[in-house]
Amino acid sequence: MILDCAIIGGGPAGLTAGLYTTRGGLENVVMFEKGMPGGQITGSSEIENYPGVTGEITGMDLMLPWPAQCQKFGLIHEMKNVTCVSKEGDIFTIHTEDGETIQAHSVIIGTGSSPRRVGFKGEDELFGKGVSTCATCDGFFYKDKEVVVIGGGDTALEEALYLAKICSKVYIVHRRDTFRAAPNTIKRIQNTQNIELILNSTPDEVYGDNMGVTGIKIINKDGKTRDIEVPGVFTFVGNDINNETLIQKDGTFLCEINELGQVKVDLRMRTSVAGLFATGDMRQDAPKQVVSAAGDGAVAALSAISYVDELLN
Ligand code: FAD
Ligand code: NAP
Repeated sequence: MILDCAIIGGGPAGLTAGLYTTRGGLENVVMFEKGMPGGQITGSSEIENYPGVTGEITGMDLMLPWPAQCQKFGLIHEMKNVTCVSKEGDIFTIHTEDGETIQAHSVIIGTGSSPRRVGFKGEDELFGKGVSTCATCDGFFYKDKEVVVIGGGDTALEEALYLAKICSKVYIVHRRDTFRAAPNTIKRIQNTQNIELILNSTPDEVYGDNMGVTGIKIINKDGKTRDIEVPGVFTFVGNDINNETLIQKDGTFLCEINELGQVKVDLRMRTSVAGLFATGDMRQDAPKQVVSAAGDGAVAALSAISYVDELLN
């Protein structure tokens, strides 16, 4: 059997593509998601900019109903890690980690992005032992204790606000003296008593004992160092594009990507390869928002429906 459409990734982009392709009449649509559907927003403690959703809501709360809504219209979820998408003639082949190959007439990819490592000494060794990239997952371990947050974007500042409600004190270490987060978030940070800003500074080394992290050495732009004794260090320094599934046997990408690793698309989410559509955080110029990822998924689905219709009729 050849699928009408294979969707790679089950974040807001992939799930919305699943909803629109199945409701729009495509048959045999499978969404390959290696973990639980919902995407990276499920790790966020708070979302307040999804239209129509008011009140305090976590990313998990927001995403929970999405898979069931898609399944109602026939979307099949396969919990599989896709290793490669290739194309021969008009047929795409989806290769999975367990050695399976599945064929499809069209592919919508929305594999998003992953948290980046900062690169300081001890970060990898102590990852999961006090160094974390998820406040919702690990924040509670540091109840009434002090923690350090690294980064100056929306994620770092929002997660610092979340941690400030649990922890006795949050130090934000940022390499510049201005933040790239939303103005309202910066204002909230400035108004939070138990947050201390350490600007123009970067982490040099995180250290610990066999129980985990015990402290971090930071260095400022004048070369002065400071030790902060904390059991937890949270890093939020951006994300890398998950584009590995587009890499072919010869090392080239299946479709065109830009210098940042983002997939080039047109306004209909079409890539440089016919029948392959890219969505959400992985596509060029993505606003990196749940609402825009969902919008991309809908646009890509409508494009895939037209493409498959033309191909098969
Ligand atoms: P993702 O959400 O990254 O989903 C991609 C999915 O693909 C994942 O589930 C992944 O498991 C799966 N996948 C990846 N590779 C494979 C593979 N090889 N095989 C199978 N499956 C695979 N946006 C907002 O609008 N408002 C906010 O308040 C907000 N807060 C945020 C807070 C945090 C902490 C973070 C990290 C992000 C936040 N964002 C927010 C951004 C938002 O989460 C993203 O823009 C959005 O999730 C992108 O959706 P996506 O579907 O493109 O990708
Ligand atoms: P980001 O916007 O790329 O910010 C990364 C931060 O980490 C920047 O402040 C950067 O410093 C710093 N940084 C990067 N590399 C570093 C290093 N090696 N050492 C020290 N600091 C380093 O990433 P993000 O905050 O994860 O956000 C990603 C996207 O999701 C953004 O588009 C964001 O707007 C969006 N998002 C939106 C919301 C929301 O709408 N509420 C919430 C979360 C995320 P510089 O500033 O000096 O570059």
